[in-house]
Amino acid sequence: GTATVMMYSIGLVLMAKERSESRLQHLAGHDVLTGTGNRRAILERFEFELQRARAAQYSLAVAMIDIDHFKRINDVHGHLAGDEVLCHCVRQLQQRLREGDSLGRYGGEEFLLLLPRTEGEGDLAALNGLREAMARNPARFAGLEIELCFSVGLWCGVPGEDDTPARLIAQADAALYLAKAGGRNAVRLAA
Ligand code: GH3
Ligand code: MG
Ligand code: MG
Repeated sequence: GTATVMMYSIGLVLMAKERSESRLQHLAGHDVLTGTGNRRAILERFEFELQRARAAQYSLAVAMIDIDHFKRINDVHGHLAGDEVLCHCVRQLQQRLREGDSLGRYGGEEFLLLLPRTEGEGDLAALNGLREAMARNPARFAGLEIELCFSVGLWCGVPGEDDTPARLIAQADAALYLAKAGGRNAVRLAA
């Protein structure tokens, strides 16, 4: 009867509303181009991971990853090729992360990666592994192979009371700067 049809219609409207709300929620936390966490999401995650590592006294690795000479890729192959390189980079990284690791797009061609509970030199080895994998696997665009590599500034340790996200990012950034100055395609540990 009419009542059934009305109930059914209301149901459909509510389902559509729920879908568009979860779509908005997804957009709020994700980078539109690459689908990885956006800056807001990774910084929120950072607060959480930092507090947890501090409370449980385990080590956290904070990696600032920056694609080398990315501007050149844009200049030589065009902006769309650059976009594809960014997506390729995220896919390559995501494939190789452990459960519990968090990745986000921090800025244009910069990514922030958090690795909780890495033992000993494990985080340096892990980042070097990611770096080598990237150098081995070129992106593809318009029938061309586009080689890319990145540099990494890495902070790791058991966070103390004074270690805020901003402070650890500044440390990772300083190490990243050294990796760039040293010739790129490298991982440098923060002092
Ligand atoms: P370095 O090795 O020192 O990091 O050099 P770089 O060229 O990677 O760094 P630079 O900061 O000079 O250039 C970054 C470029 O990234 C500039 C900007 O136009 C480009 N970029 C930022 N966001 C996007 C994007 O979403 N898509 C594309 N295609 N390019 C982007
Ligand atoms: Mg940069
Ligand atoms: Mg760069």
